[in-house]
Amino acid sequence: MRESGFPAGLPAGSPPGSPGTRSGNRVGSPRDLDGFIFDLDGCIWTGEDLVPGAREVIDRLRDLGKRVGFLTNNSTQSARKVATRLRRMGIPAAAGMVVVSADLAGPYLASRHGHGKVLVIGSPALRRSILRAGHTLVSWREVLEEGRIPDMVTAGMDVGFHYRKLTAAAVAVARGAFFYACNVDPRLPLEGGRFLPGTGSIARAIAVAAGADPAIIGKPEPPCFLEALRRLGTPPARTAMVGDSPRSDIAGGRRAGLFTILLDAGGAGMGPGSGSSGPGSGTGTGQAEGEVIPHLRVQGMDELLAWISVPAHPRI
Ligand SMILES: [Mg+2]
Repeated sequence: MRESGFPAGLPAGSPPGSPGTRSGNRVGSPRDLDGFIFDLDGCIWTGEDLVPGAREVIDRLRDLGKRVGFLTNNSTQSARKVATRLRRMGIPAAAGMVVVSADLAGPYLASRHGHGKVLVIGSPALRRSILRAGHTLVSWREVLEEGRIPDMVTAGMDVGFHYRKLTAAAVAVARGAFFYACNVDPRLPLEGGRFLPGTGSIARAIAVAAGADPAIIGKPEPPCFLEALRRLGTPPARTAMVGDSPRSDIAGGRRAGLFTILLDAGGAGMGPGSGSSGPGSGTGTGQAEGEVIPHLRVQGMDELLAWISVPAHPRI
C-alpha cells in the first residue's frame, strides 16, 4: 500500500493542510484510491442539469483505471433507469454499478423480517422492489377501510403523498408495524437552488403522528455502502465516497470506513468545523453537523479533477 503522499504541486484552490493527517487515513490524495462512489443528486446532477465538471472527473478516473460506482438515496427510479439517465448525460454507467435505495428496500426488509405484508408510501419503483423480494402489498385504503395492519411500513419519495396515506401509515406504525424510510433527506435539490420536499419530510410526518422514528434503508446506514463496495470490488480504505451531504454521504461513508470527499458546491459553510449546512445546500438535514468532518472538501468537481490529475508525490 502506498504511503501517504500529497501531490507534488497542490492544485490552485486546494484546501490547506493534509486531509490524510487530519483524518488519520493513510491515503493522502484521492488519486491514491482504487474506487470512487458518487452520490447523484447535487453531486452528478441537480434536477436536469449536469453538475459542471462531473463528466470530466469520471472520464479521468476511468482513464486512470479507477473503479467508479454510484449510490443514491433517491427512491423514485430503479438502477436501470438511473443508469440510462447517466448515459444520456454522457456518463457511461452500467445498471450493476448503480445502487439505489428503492432497489435495496425489498431485500433489506426480507433480511430483517422475512417476507411480510408491506404498506408502501412511495414510488412505483419502490413498490416493485418490495414485490420482487417476495413481500405482498397492503394499500392505504385497506388499512383505513378494512382495518388491515401491515407487518411493515416503508416510506420513500411519494409525489402523490396525501393526508389519508399519512393517516394509514401512522396508524399502522402506531399499531406495531415496523417502520422504514429509504432515507431521511429533507430535500431533493433542483436547478437554480430550488428544491422539492424529500423522503425525510414524508417520513418525519409519519413519525410525528405515529410516535416512532423509522429505521433508514439508504445512506447514512452502512448496508448501502457495503453493497456499493461489493459491486466495485475495492476495500473501504481504498475507496472514496463523494457527495454533497455531510449527514448522508460523509457521516455514512466514514462509518463504513471509506475515504470521504465533500462536494461543497455552494461554499455555504458545510466544511469541516462549520457546524451546519446552509438552508437548501445539498441534501443534508440542516441539523448541527460539527462532528461530520470529510477527509477532503472540494468546492466543485473542477477542484476534484485537479486533485486527481496531479501525479502522486514520489516515495521518499
Ligand atoms: Mg446529494
